[in-house]
Amino acid sequence: MVHTCGMAKKSNSTVRPSKSISELLRLPEGPVNMASLDPAGRPGYPGHGKSDADGYTAAIGPILADLQERLFANGKSTPVDAKRVLLVLQGMDTSGKGGVITHAVGLVDPQGVHIKGFKAPTPEELSHDFLWRIRNALPDPGMIGIFDRSHYEDVLVVRVENLVPVSEWDGRYDLINTFEAELAAAGYLIIKCFLNISPGEQKLRLAARLADPSKYWKYNPRDVNAHEKWGAYMEAYKDALERCNTDAAPWYVIPSDRKWYRNWAIAEILKEQLVAQGFTWPAANFDVAAEKARVAAI
Ligand code: AMP
Ligand code: MG
Repeated sequence: MVHTCGMAKKSNSTVRPSKSISELLRLPEGPVNMASLDPAGRPGYPGHGKSDADGYTAAIGPILADLQERLFANGKSTPVDAKRVLLVLQGMDTSGKGGVITHAVGLVDPQGVHIKGFKAPTPEELSHDFLWRIRNALPDPGMIGIFDRSHYEDVLVVRVENLVPVSEWDGRYDLINTFEAELAAAGYLIIKCFLNISPGEQKLRLAARLADPSKYWKYNPRDVNAHEKWGAYMEAYKDALERCNTDAAPWYVIPSDRKWYRNWAIAEILKEQLVAQGFTWPAANFDVAAEKARVAAI
């Protein structure tokens, strides 16, 4: 898919995109050509660029916070019927999964967010099937769950590093589709974002980490090994994007060479997807008039 960028023209006025950001960045179902996914694009961005991105992202905040509070309220009030949101963040090292959590997810009340990062599995996790630890980390009703990496690692790093035989990882795409369809049917709103960076940008970000002692903690020498296997990772991403891209659990491809665009785009998609749910405030489960009278009489 080529991300079109009808909004690139410079103008002082705010230009409204003809399509929503969800529509612009939704990966169409069908064959995926990784080379056609532009990591530096800025589809649908309404402003000039980096200089005004903080303002555009901040402007999403109150709307997103209101939607999240409605979701949360419904989770408290009617947990059986309440939606749960699952935002899956996948991308190569330095693509900015943490940055998205800070700048986009950080726009809402942290009490309504459940963040889970997935590292190499522990011995206990390895003793179960690969979805076991994922099921254990799913958000409760009314919550926004954030996966910093996910079950997709089990068809990405696991495939590239030959951690299990091909016969095993190849069966996982169907298992993932079945799993995600079950979640969607059970009331999960699944939003999967592939944070697409270029190898050149990754090199710059790794170098920046090494140039600044306050960023050493973010640097992992193994990230360079993964960089050297870029082609193999992109083949694995291609299959994950192509084989697990359903209406129930769609992929969005987020151009991520520009951090400001990445953060704005994910905040906007989250907003659009929550707006589409049409959340209302839960009705009182008590007699409002009677309670008003009681409180007035205190
Ligand atoms: P980070 O997100 O930078 O803290 O790194 C987490 C590391 O855990 C990455 O190198 C991932 O590839 C690795 N990881 C996550 N899930 C798995 C998995 N299922 N199998 C093997 N390695 C994994
Ligand atoms: Mg890392």
